Amino acid sequence: MSYSWRSSLLSRFDWLDHAFLPAGERPPVETIYNQQRHSARVVPSATALPVKSVEADGLIASDNRPVAVYTADCLPILLIDAKQHQAAAVHGGLKGILGGVLANAIRQLCQNGSAPGDLFIAIGPSIGPCCYELGKDLIARAEQDDPHHLAPLMAWSEQPSTNPAAVRPQAQGTTDGVWFDLPLLAKRIALREGVPEGQIELSGICTYCMAEEQASYRRNTHRQHGYQQRFSWIRVKN
Ligand SMILES: [Zn+2]
Repeated sequence: MSYSWRSSLLSRFDWLDHAFLPAGERPPVETIYNQQRHSARVVPSATALPVKSVEADGLIASDNRPVAVYTADCLPILLIDAKQHQAAAVHGGLKGILGGVLANAIRQLCQNGSAPGDLFIAIGPSIGPCCYELGKDLIARAEQDDPHHLAPLMAWSEQPSTNPAAVRPQAQGTTDGVWFDLPLLAKRIALREGVPEGQIELSGICTYCMAEEQASYRRNTHRQHGYQQRFSWIRVKN
């Protein structure tokens, strides 16, 4: 079984390459990526060399070199402008998403000349609502201290749900918390920024219960089997 996921949305475009790699696989050798800090900072790749010299969580490709993010439960988000042939990669954990990293990437693409209606966004494998338990105190804090007005977009359920596509046991509740849907929050942020719904794709793959053994940081904290980063990269060919 292969754990690589390809976005059918991004695969339509022959001027770009992309991959959401499984845990432990390396991106192309010339790939640029940042020192990720769960921040809302997005930078052009021309200012992000050498690799990992810049602390930021989003990269907009300045040229034909691939840009990437690495994740292990957080959202890997790849964005493109189909008209202007721009591409970007965003690392979106809960903190970065609440801090505005995805909206920042969309707005920076638009400052470079994109229109939201020309953007296509693929949100790759991450921990899903089937396995992502968050404490209620954390939710309450996020609702109270909410500079980007994201509270109305947040989605969670009080009860754990069964994932029929799980290939291994789902996360067990440990804190009497809620089951949070981070991919859906990211999708709703993109919608609010004006990206059409048909141009946003969610993988539907949970790194905890559906992906390869080493994909999930949280599963490792529960089961101590180790984890490795998953690289997701994108490149403008022409
Ligand atoms: Zn799951």
